[in-house]
Amino acid sequence: MRDAISSLPAYIQRASLLLVLAPVVEHADLDKVDCDFASWATRGWCRLEAIISYLVGCQNIILAFSSKRMNVMMVDKMIIRKPVGCGEFSCCTQNHRVKIDGVEHEIRCDRLGVAEVLAQFFDSRVLHLSTQDDLSPYRFLVVHEHKIMQNLPVLRHRPKFDTWQKFANVLRFPEDRPLEKASGQFNWSPLIFAIFANNLEVVRFLIECSADVHETTQLVPGDLLVGRTPLHHNLGRGYGPQGRAICDLLLDAKADPYRCAMRPFLSKPFLDPFSCSLTNVEMSLHFLDKVTPCFLTHADSFGGVAENHAVINGIFEIVKKLHEQGCEFQSRNMFGLGAVGLFCGFPKDSQISCDLRVLDLLHDSGKLGDLNLPIFHFPKLGLKKFRFILAWHLFNSGLLLQQNAIVRTMYILRHGTVLHAAVLRDDPIVVMWLLNHSADPNIKTKLGKTALELAIDLDHPRCESILRGDSALQRHHSSKIFETCS
Ligand SMILES: [Zn+2]
Repeated sequence: MRDAISSLPAYIQRASLLLVLAPVVEHADLDKVDCDFASWATRGWCRLEAIISYLVGCQNIILAFSSKRMNVMMVDKMIIRKPVGCGEFSCCTQNHRVKIDGVEHEIRCDRLGVAEVLAQFFDSRVLHLSTQDDLSPYRFLVVHEHKIMQNLPVLRHRPKFDTWQKFANVLRFPEDRPLEKASGQFNWSPLIFAIFANNLEVVRFLIECSADVHETTQLVPGDLLVGRTPLHHNLGRGYGPQGRAICDLLLDAKADPYRCAMRPFLSKPFLDPFSCSLTNVEMSLHFLDKVTPCFLTHADSFGGVAENHAVINGIFEIVKKLHEQGCEFQSRNMFGLGAVGLFCGFPKDSQISCDLRVLDLLHDSGKLGDLNLPIFHFPKLGLKKFRFILAWHLFNSGLLLQQNAIVRTMYILRHGTVLHAAVLRDDPIVVMWLLNHSADPNIKTKLGKTALELAIDLDHPRCESILRGDSALQRHHSSKIFETCS
């Protein structure tokens, strides 16, 4: 078994496509614990597979199949949000002790092995990219070393580029011209690279040299938006005392905390720096101490506002802070989806966390709204106009693979409620919560399906059992908070 696991990188290296088959199955050793694609993405070894596939061939997309759904995951996003070292390893859960024939043995932590393997692949990829004519991918990879190796013991033994001289040297910038843009595919100035690297010393040096804190980036791998500023990137990716200090430096240098990014071809700006922080609890809370953002700024091209995005991401600490600052969470996007509808219907493996305390908080403060209204609820918008907007946005979004998912979701859920949405994304824990908070299981979708019938159709047995009233499962799921990511 151990040999099979350690050879993962070797066969990933030989593969040309990474397909993940992750049906919902009960864990063989752990009682009443389910495994699915979301739990796949929490495992350290599985994250290693994804990163290696990226490092050996720049393969950037993972296709994952669980039940009748297909998920698409961008490895660029995984690198930022799901580092290998922040994943789960069985050895750590067992406290590095196993019993063989009744005798306890100490075992080596898998993180050590993972760190060595990952460092090897990282270095060979860096070496390869360093010989290319355009150094953009090389620089991009080098400044993400801290993320790729986050929380792994190997990181502290690797060289640190904590002065401008060292940084310029390794990224091959002219040392005497720190404000010069890098040219090539990305053409960013050193400041943007230093922000990606969460490198406080270099950012401080560059700001002292009057680097442009309003510079906007056009093409960032894994990102469909253009026009993010250094503050956007810092709030999305920064962490630790360095990340927070970089935020302060940018604000002191008069970076605009309300500046919006936008999507190509769509004229309406959206996504201010605060919206970027909503996936990053540490930076979000820090930013809120310094700036009072506009909680109703559009955070996506579908008309979703920042405060609702906090609910979608499911990070309790952020939602709690926004609640304390007076957010009402009542806005609906142009599909008529409100905060709770998005929380329950957003793809589970894209959600940062699925902390039920978010729903508890909205419930207890009277901000939950009516759970039995249709999930796509249009108080003002006619159906014709809605169809036009949908078509326009799908045309513009460029998300070919996701278009399918949106249209299908709309088709299946029309006239349905948040309960149907939770069934569609196969989320027994949320189904359980909704049933305990007066969601009506008898409401039918336009296709005439109750939540139970939908669960049967979609082959989601866990949701089916709960909707049938299986009390053992209900106890199991009601006691669990599900987190997909550190
Ligand atoms: Zn361990």
